[in-house]
Amino acid sequence: MRAKERLNRTSRAGLIALSLLLIGCGGCPLGLVPVDTTGADGSSATAPTDNVGDSLQDAKPLNLTGGATETLAGEITSPRDTDVYALGTLGPGDRVEIDVEATGGTLDPVAAVFDSNELLIAFSDDRDPTGADLNPRIDFVIAGDVDTYYLAIIAYPETRTTGTYGVRVTVTPGSDPDFARGQILYLDWRGGDGITVPNVGTYDLPAFSATDLGLSASQTEAFKVRVQQIVEARYAGYDMIVLSSDDYATPAQAHSTVYFGGFNARAFAISEQIDSYNQDPSDETIVFTRSYRGAFAGTPGFEELAQAVGNTVAHEVGHLLGLVHTKDAASLMDASAPNDSILVPQAFTTAELLSAVFPFGYQPAEDLLAWILGVVGM
Ligand SMILES: [Zn+2]
Repeated sequence: MRAKERLNRTSRAGLIALSLLLIGCGGCPLGLVPVDTTGADGSSATAPTDNVGDSLQDAKPLNLTGGATETLAGEITSPRDTDVYALGTLGPGDRVEIDVEATGGTLDPVAAVFDSNELLIAFSDDRDPTGADLNPRIDFVIAGDVDTYYLAIIAYPETRTTGTYGVRVTVTPGSDPDFARGQILYLDWRGGDGITVPNVGTYDLPAFSATDLGLSASQTEAFKVRVQQIVEARYAGYDMIVLSSDDYATPAQAHSTVYFGGFNARAFAISEQIDSYNQDPSDETIVFTRSYRGAFAGTPGFEELAQAVGNTVAHEVGHLLGLVHTKDAASLMDASAPNDSILVPQAFTTAELLSAVFPFGYQPAEDLLAWILGVVGM
């Protein structure tokens, strides 16, 4: 199973937190695009080498300013090796396409784009959300400031592979940097048989009851209302509409769905993918509401449990919008702190990337959400 999970850390042992990604791919097939390792002038691309710097300061310079294509070859010589390339000075409207292919050894490559402050701007683990193709592919339009941007390539941190790779990087100016698209989120409390969350599983779920979490049945309605309020508060200021199945039929428009119910020994929730730049506005996630019982140090009450579920929904929807895991207990995308950290309000913040995601860097969640969703009056 290669889906994003919000771990239930009371039973984390043995779980490999796998991440996956569907890359924005405007009109191109999702299949592997062979990397052309021959330069435009017919010369061979750089031979595999490990002399590519491990940090932004030591980056190997490329110059894609103003638009160009570069092909190169490199090697991840140890599981901790990082290859960093400076893409040049880029700015709003520059479309950046990065196609990485492992070419030798065992390498399972991961690619990311950072700005000069080590802020993560784009990330790809696998180009195929099912895990059928582990080669990363990045395709996005810069919405942030004019800056020097960097490409960094590592081996997937959880499996410690090594080997050679080829990369084709293309920068094309002139795209619309204002690509934000609002999102409808549907909280589906109804349960049902045969509910399928792609890449996760198929479930028969009873209608949600607060008794799932150890509360009384009489608290069910209030609990659903409170969770919706919390999710809305986490996305306040962004163009996100949150609808409840108690108030609305399944929307006719594109929408992402959160299902509630069931039990998973390893996770509070699992999403179908990390959907980079919200390429697919119709994703699904499931919150295993019975997994919260006994998962905390004490016996949390109604409000704490509502915060836990609300934070979880906001976190999973973050994955469906393209966000990855960070390391900050107060941050919604945290995947490092004990379970009790989700019993209180968390927020989208700029936070350090989890080392299982990348060895350096920070995720500017507020900027990314503003670029992806758009901002509305507060
Ligand atoms: Zn997660």
